[in-house]
Amino acid sequence: MAKILEELKGARTVAISGHVRPDGDCIGSCMGLYLYLKKALPEVRTDIYLEQPSRIFSCIDRIEEVKTDCSEDIVYDAFIAVDTASDRLGAAEKYFKTAKRTINVDHHISNAKGCGQINHVDAAASSASELVYDLMEEELVDASIAKAIYIGIIHDTGVFQYSNTSPRTLMTAAKLISYGFDFSRLIDETFYEKTYVQNQILGRALLESILFMDGRCIVSAIDRKTMDFYNAAPGDLDGIVSQLRIIKGVECAIFMYQTGPQEYKVSMRSNGRVDVAAVASYFGGGGHIRAAGCTLQGTYYDCINNLSLHIEKQLEA
Ligand code: AMP
Ligand code: MN
Ligand code: MN
Repeated sequence: MAKILEELKGARTVAISGHVRPDGDCIGSCMGLYLYLKKALPEVRTDIYLEQPSRIFSCIDRIEEVKTDCSEDIVYDAFIAVDTASDRLGAAEKYFKTAKRTINVDHHISNAKGCGQINHVDAAASSASELVYDLMEEELVDASIAKAIYIGIIHDTGVFQYSNTSPRTLMTAAKLISYGFDFSRLIDETFYEKTYVQNQILGRALLESILFMDGRCIVSAIDRKTMDFYNAAPGDLDGIVSQLRIIKGVECAIFMYQTGPQEYKVSMRSNGRVDVAAVASYFGGGGHIRAAGCTLQGTYYDCINNLSLHIEKQLEA
């Protein structure tokens, strides 16, 4: 596999970006790559664009250098889209569109072809972070870079628990922890630790969840009013859908939160029998077979009806 430094040869300006509402893998892979390019190519102007990362990621070195403002008019020599296709880059998509060279590093099955001129897309990879690491020269990796990549991997594998964890994932993780950062504390601080309010919302979501299709599906939603009451951001809802998925007998879990008067952001998780990437893709979203998302228009009941039709068809097949 050609290494990223070869692909950037001659570039004087490089931009890195990931998807909107960035998760741990998105932030870890983008920041890992950013730290690596800053070190390997000090004369190159490398910029990183992301929506404001959650405070839990402040343990990543130089995260304060993330640019959230895309108002500058600049044409980059190279743009690297990580953990996403170009349609979910948000405001940074404008730089992707004008960049002279585009590179895509992703592991979403819904982006199998890749959106760049050069593509490193592998749906079998646990995370974009795992793929980013493979594009690095090992001798240039240091503890800061390793830490960022490690965070990405633990987030997308649920701390090496989900079925996307492979021998390659664990071998990469083994190399990463040899750089000597406090991985145990990192896992607690970025993955398991929840604020009191986050736990209260999780409690609400569990209390108000509804089982259907003979207990094979579960749905729960948080509306705008409740989010305002708890002063919650979308990131405060992370982990709710995972908790719904592990309920005994459940094949498919749906969690939604309201993003507009008639709009919901949907997260789906499957235990294997339902391909939720296919369901999400039908509604214009995407993701992985066991974890996917989309945005739906309509009332809470419209959303459930639309999703359950597709899920039922798969469960009955
Ligand atoms: P989420 O439920 O938002 O945590 O997303 C689960 C997985 O699906 C993640 O890998 C997301 O990157 C992906 N995903 C979520 N929403 C979309 C979307 N609208 N389009 C493509 N992929 C998505
Ligand atoms: Mn992601
Ligand atoms: Mn990912």
